[in-house]
Amino acid sequence: MTRLIFLGPPGAGKGTQAQMLASDCSVPHISTGDILRAAVADGTELGKKAEAYMSAGELVPDDLILDLIQERLAQEDAQMGWVLDGFPRNVSQAEFLIKLLEKIEQPADFVVNLDVADEVIVTRLLKRGRADDEEGVIRHRLEVYRKQTAPLIDFYRDRQQLVSVDGNQPMEAVYASLQAVIRS
Ligand code: AMP
Repeated sequence: MTRLIFLGPPGAGKGTQAQMLASDCSVPHISTGDILRAAVADGTELGKKAEAYMSAGELVPDDLILDLIQERLAQEDAQMGWVLDGFPRNVSQAEFLIKLLEKIEQPADFVVNLDVADEVIVTRLLKRGRADDEEGVIRHRLEVYRKQTAPLIDFYRDRQQLVSVDGNQPMEAVYASLQAVIRS
């Protein structure tokens, strides 16, 4: 049973690492960003509400995200574990998640923080070329990360759930460190 939460700035390689790990552990990779992008592409109500926030590099309001994650974690394939990527993104989401996981009796094993230097982040994001990867939006997403998401590092450290992995190395080396941390 694997239940992991991934933290890290945009461009840390979170998505790639979370996806590889989920696949190796045979559990779903749950990315709120992927779910939202699919909703935008499908033109659903959720997608219509989320789109403007996403293209501006802002967080989508909690009331849209909390229902979404609760429903996703209730699905059949999530009962044997999961890797969460992109959720929680702020302290109120983290508090909601703790209560939710207690209620469904599925505590997280731990929280992985992918530690990456600022210079590495902007270079990686500019290479990715996603719709919200234009330089101004990137800078704004980093600011939002620092203000709203980075406080979760201390939040989970205080709860003794945090492990840090050096994300400045090439992808394969990061994955090897990640596996070492998880096994130990
Ligand atoms: P990501 O793919 O995780 O980088 O997410 C892309 C965008 O989706 C973010 O910039 C936000 O606009 C939105 N998003 C993803 N996850 C969340 C979340 N947990 N809370 C609020 N907004 C989110």
